[in-house]
Amino acid sequence: STFEELGVIPEIRQAITELGFENPMPVQAEVIPQLLSHKRDIIALAQTGTGKTAAFGIPVIQKTDLSLLSPQTVILCPTRELCLQIAGDLTDFSTYVEDLKILPVYGGSSIESQIRTLKRGVHIIVATPGRLIDLINRKTVSLKHVHTIVLDEADEMLNMGFSESIDEILSSVPESRSMLLFSATMPKEIEKITRKYMSDPVEITI
Ligand code: AMP
Repeated sequence: STFEELGVIPEIRQAITELGFENPMPVQAEVIPQLLSHKRDIIALAQTGTGKTAAFGIPVIQKTDLSLLSPQTVILCPTRELCLQIAGDLTDFSTYVEDLKILPVYGGSSIESQIRTLKRGVHIIVATPGRLIDLINRKTVSLKHVHTIVLDEADEMLNMGFSESIDEILSSVPESRSMLLFSATMPKEIEKITRKYMSDPVEITI
């Protein structure tokens, strides 16, 4: 298939062509149309290097209502490095999407500057769970317009002790949201999250 056939808009196709993406990788061919059509919650068993960042990044960029300057997608990931990596990739994919605001939030950096950026308004938040909880508790972020939540490297997040934070975040977003969970392994605790927060998820193994 091609990115055009998957329903990706020309502005994003232009950017990814310039990044050297010719054809969708398997995880992208599966996830992009599903997420664009808001059909099902998705569990994807996929390792790093399979193209998963573009698999969720492209559709969440495309689904953003740019006229609504409020967080619409939350992407959770385990580390500062991954957080910056994902935010950077999404910035690259959205080169020709004007005025899309992506904010990485992670611990160990100034929370004040993250709060200032949040006040100016963002569309997509890429966060480590602990720092996002901190921002929620300070009432500096509203999640009421979130329509998509992505858990990247979910097994790693649980290994790092983020289980409670994830639980709290998932309870604070609207129930109508779509949820997409990526994990390299499927331990019991992940099954628990999927049972509690996902409805009739489709499972993809790459
Ligand atoms: P990820 O699994 O998201 O870390 O992606 C692994 C690598 O594959 C990254 O360097 C991407 O830039 C690259 N990549 C992702 N999708 C494609 C594609 N459709 N064609 C070529 N390279 C890609």
